[in-house]
Amino acid sequence: MRIDIITVLPELLESPLGHSIIRRAQKKGLVEIYLHQLRDYTTDKHRTTDDYAFGPDAGMVLKVEPIFKVIEKLKGERTYDEVIYTSPDGEPYTQGLANQLSTMQNIILLCGHYKGVDHRVREHLVTREISIGDYVLSGGELAAAVIVDSVVRLVPGVLTDETSALTDSFQDGLLAPPVYTRPAEFNGWKVPEILISGNFKEIEKWQLEQSIERTRRLRPNLLGE
Ligand code: SAH
Repeated sequence: MRIDIITVLPELLESPLGHSIIRRAQKKGLVEIYLHQLRDYTTDKHRTTDDYAFGPDAGMVLKVEPIFKVIEKLKGERTYDEVIYTSPDGEPYTQGLANQLSTMQNIILLCGHYKGVDHRVREHLVTREISIGDYVLSGGELAAAVIVDSVVRLVPGVLTDETSALTDSFQDGLLAPPVYTRPAEFNGWKVPEILISGNFKEIEKWQLEQSIERTRRLRPNLLGE
């Protein structure tokens, strides 16, 4: 899978993309991630990526020309499944959407900034808009990091058995059960007896019960309740 990220602040993404599972996925050649500095696609001497919004409201807007240039360049090199704009008014991001994106070959993630991007970008260049939640960030970079992280770990071969995504929350419509590790007793606080019983069938049953109980209590909407 290839992910191209367009941003005015690539520095903001270097660390989130350069560690742990995402780094390993790139090293293994399972995922390629490229950061594109929007400024490199400007033509004026000041390398201007933004301008004042038309109308009475204060605020800067990312200009259409450099965004058009970088997207056209990338599209000239390969076919993209989606050109995604991160936006608070986009489609709410879910594990289901992460699963869907993880099956794609090539995607572009466009990060907005300031007041956002010139709306013509959204009308003519973007194919999908994603929001990571009902709040407003200063830029799309952190949203892109969230999307990339959650997608990359689902790409086949990225996770090992120990970190398998299958038992994670939402994957089967339920929240994950509680997890514990050694020591079995600390400070008088005990790990549930069943987990140290060695009876895997009973443990699985307990885990499922816990998942259902936690989902019902914490996120009843997932059960349609
Ligand atoms: N004026 C816009 C917000 C701009 S915030 C509005 O009111 O809708 C600046 C940029 O941050 C946006 O262009 C977008 O790319 C990103 N962003 C902010 N909040 C986000 C969210 N909840 N999900 C995804 N991207 C977000």
